[in-house]
Amino acid sequence: MLEDLTPPSRSVRCKMGRIIDSLDDSDKNILEKALADRNVWSSKGLARELMNRGLSITEGPLALHRTKSCGCYRS
Ligand SMILES: [Zn+2]
Repeated sequence: MLEDLTPPSRSVRCKMGRIIDSLDDSDKNILEKALADRNVWSSKGLARELMNRGLSITEGPLALHRTKSCGCYRS
């Protein structure tokens, strides 16, 4: 009866996480490096450049993901 009982999925990706998931591997690498490099990229500047390239992301969710305060890192 309970063979298929599984815990509810907690892996709720935030908007930034979903965008990262949608990229191919090389774009993903570039973006993850940019996210990690806070000396070079401000959240605001990075969000603006991503938007210029057609990705729908704003500073707020980007900054939350960057500081691991988003759904991706909640467990
Ligand atoms: Zn996230």
